[in-house]
Amino acid sequence: MSMQAETFKSLVRGAAEQVIASAPELTSLDQAIGDGDHGTNMKRGCEAVLGKLDAISAQPLDEALKMIGKTLVMTVGGASGPLYGSFFLAAGEALSHDKHLPEDLADVFGSGVSAVSARGRSQAGEKTMLDVLVPVLETLKTAAGQPDLIARVRSTAAEAVERTAPMQATKGRASFLGARSVGHVDPGARSSCVLVQAVCASLEGKQ
Ligand code: ADP
Ligand code: MG
Repeated sequence: MSMQAETFKSLVRGAAEQVIASAPELTSLDQAIGDGDHGTNMKRGCEAVLGKLDAISAQPLDEALKMIGKTLVMTVGGASGPLYGSFFLAAGEALSHDKHLPEDLADVFGSGVSAVSARGRSQAGEKTMLDVLVPVLETLKTAAGQPDLIARVRSTAAEAVERTAPMQATKGRASFLGARSVGHVDPGARSSCVLVQAVCASLEGKQ
């Protein structure tokens, strides 16, 4: 296996394991403003990805991301499954069309964010995963090529997830609660933060 494939494999494994480890927290956040399944949904999806990890990491990067997306669509369920699935499918699609890593990272991540927004008919400010994904995209654009990029992405994600607490949800199940959704961190924002932080940790370990 090439060095790049080996790195990708450990990155995906690390991210999936972090999400699995955070499942109890994701569930308790979803118990507060949803139906309490976000942790089990994400855990199921990440276990499916881990189960296919050899096949996934044997693919070129664009195909590997699409495989992850398809696996998440098929296994996560809920609102978040198709949304995370769309993210990885679109990011893989971007890489199939003349985008390259690391130089096009913001464009590739941006394709994923746009796909979530299109599929969810949602945007930042509605107390969803986009309230982490959009600020992270902004940091990827503004801090591209800077030596502290990873550290800045990390702090962006951590701060963004906390900023969802005072928001009132206007999309997803939490929106049914109206004003009662205020005061709780959004579960999908938290899972996005866990994913972003895990990728950062893995990349930092490689430096
Ligand atoms: P469900 O809400 O169907 O039970 P999950 O609990 O797995 O699905 O996921 C809930 C998360 O999905 C929310 O916390 C939110 O971040 C995200 N979400 C829900 N609807 C949307 C949407 N329209 N756009 C973006 N994210 C959404
Ligand atoms: Mg739920």
